[in-house]
Amino acid sequence: MNTFKTVLVLAPHTDDGELGAGGTIAKLIENGAEVYYVAFSTAEESVPEGMPKDILKTEVKSATKQLGIKEENLIIFNYEVRKLNYVRQEILEELIKIRSNINVDLVLMPSLHDLHQDHTTVANEGLRAFKQKPILGYELIWNNLTFNTTAFTQLEERHVQKKFEALKEYNSQAGRDYTSRDFIFSLAKTRGVQIGCSFAEAFEVVRWII
Ligand SMILES: [Zn+2]
Repeated sequence: MNTFKTVLVLAPHTDDGELGAGGTIAKLIENGAEVYYVAFSTAEESVPEGMPKDILKTEVKSATKQLGIKEENLIIFNYEVRKLNYVRQEILEELIKIRSNINVDLVLMPSLHDLHQDHTTVANEGLRAFKQKPILGYELIWNNLTFNTTAFTQLEERHVQKKFEALKEYNSQAGRDYTSRDFIFSLAKTRGVQIGCSFAEAFEVVRWII
């Protein structure tokens, strides 16, 4: 973990990075890494009735702050939800700009096996832009038909707690089963059992460079 100094998290929607890698992000920051978080859609079209259209933008700011990500390291795009594939090339070009501005040594992005069309787009373009860097695909079990647990990060309870607290900032998403404390801790426990430690997050190795 200490070898990663500059980490880029790619989140198709505002909460994906926290859901897939929140504990790992908390641990990386604790170890002194600079973490950048890019959200591609604030899903204005999916915001529940009666809530401000930009609520997810407000919430992602609070959630990433909970994890320790600096405000200036949060990049938010406003692409239309479920239609990221319509702007695939624009997304690739933005990623290439980010690659020229930030010397990233690890990329965390959705799994290449993620079924959600927006996640697939970000995973494919992420790989295109960062194919020369180590890349891990994070797990979102409700979107994965298959997921190879080929990499793990060992976590302590405090890292999983931070993930849970970050996700609590998403009031507009309250009541989703995958943001419940039970689910978050159970999955972290499950992944921990696989590798003989208390808690963990699992990733798919997309590219690894030694
Ligand atoms: Zn998503």
